[in-house]
Amino acid sequence: MSDIIVKPRGTLDYLGDEMKLYDSVQSELSKMAVSYGAIKAEPPIFEETRLFVRGVGESSDIVSKEMFGLNTKGEHDYVLRPEFTAGINRLSIENKLYASPDLPIKMFYCGPVFRFERPQKGRLREFNQFGVEFLDKKIDLLTSLDCLILYYRGGEKVLGRDLKLRINYLGSFQSRENYKKALKDFYAPHLSQMCPDCQRRYNENVLRILDCKVEEDKELNKDAPLITDYLLPEDKMQLEQVERALDELNIGYELDPMLVRGLDYYTGLVFELYDPMNMDLGALGGGGQYGNLMKEIGGPDFEGIGFSYGMERLLLALSLERKNKMLEEETTAMDFFLIDLRADKDNKPVILADELRSNGLKVASSSYGKALSGALKMADRLHSRYSLIFDDYNPGKVLIKNMNKRTQDEYGLEDIDKLANHLCGLI
Ligand code: AMP
Repeated sequence: MSDIIVKPRGTLDYLGDEMKLYDSVQSELSKMAVSYGAIKAEPPIFEETRLFVRGVGESSDIVSKEMFGLNTKGEHDYVLRPEFTAGINRLSIENKLYASPDLPIKMFYCGPVFRFERPQKGRLREFNQFGVEFLDKKIDLLTSLDCLILYYRGGEKVLGRDLKLRINYLGSFQSRENYKKALKDFYAPHLSQMCPDCQRRYNENVLRILDCKVEEDKELNKDAPLITDYLLPEDKMQLEQVERALDELNIGYELDPMLVRGLDYYTGLVFELYDPMNMDLGALGGGGQYGNLMKEIGGPDFEGIGFSYGMERLLLALSLERKNKMLEEETTAMDFFLIDLRADKDNKPVILADELRSNGLKVASSSYGKALSGALKMADRLHSRYSLIFDDYNPGKVLIKNMNKRTQDEYGLEDIDKLANHLCGLI
């Protein structure tokens, strides 16, 4: 064998049970998003670089450090998408969804995103996000709450237990400006000792310093002013309404004034979800409200609110019990398993299988070279209910072996339609 080519660092191959679990989580979340009136959307996997530079913001790590650029021979400046929100907003502008009389626009998505990060547990270079975006001229309380509740309930349903919700309110433009000024005044005397990233953030988006992972800066952040002290009365009222709704819904949460989220576009409500049993995984997902994104990328003056879960982190957090339950529901047990041992083959098994599958039944088969005992073992491994054996000891007939009871019957091959009918009746 020549050199084995392996997958790139920070990527995953999905197959077997992991693939089934992925599909099952996606299907669970999709059903839930549909029940909130959302429809599925799928922007392309690559987009123009400036969509993310303008949409997500230059000071965010994902744009400044982590984008996967594509070499398109200088024709266009494209990158693999590092997130969905900017693409979904671009799609809404290009397809004039904003002109719809039916607002808010509600969309959900699921697919791969790419970030050039240092791979480690729960941190990949290609990973998958499931998320929603709700867009409207003005995001009202009902839409915000719908989004937040869907976010919490989705995670709760998939993992089957209570999760830890962290929320914060970044306030209106004016509150944030006042707060940014207070932060700048606070950091100014310490700036020369802070990390180079924070020195850049100080000018580009000072809020993001609160997100810094460097120990010394984290220590300093403990004494930083809090956004909650800078909210205007109307912001405070909005936050109180959200808190009251969460209380009334019995959804536990923690108000974390340090939560600013990694992307530049957030305003108003922001939130993250953690699994108390897997805190080392980091956030299972995050989201929040944004004010200027659509305008920033050439669209109308719309607002949005959305979230995304990291699919891989949800899968890592699944308990063994949940996994088994999901796999049970996703069972691919075969109805029939074909074994053709005859020296001279004809097309009857193929025609029969086609007929059975047209009736919605699941039919698999072994390769010709397998002996009967090996083929029956394979039939068992695929949880087949019946094996259909064609051999030279029973010319013109098929043996129908009940794999549970280990009993056997036979049936003539003259009329395949009649045989198919008989077999359908067994299931
Ligand atoms: P973000 O778009 O950065 O808010 O990320 C949303 C969610 O995607 C996070 O909460 C994680 O669950 C997941 N995520 C972000 N980055 C990665 C990564 N490098 N590998 C795996 N999952 C990630």
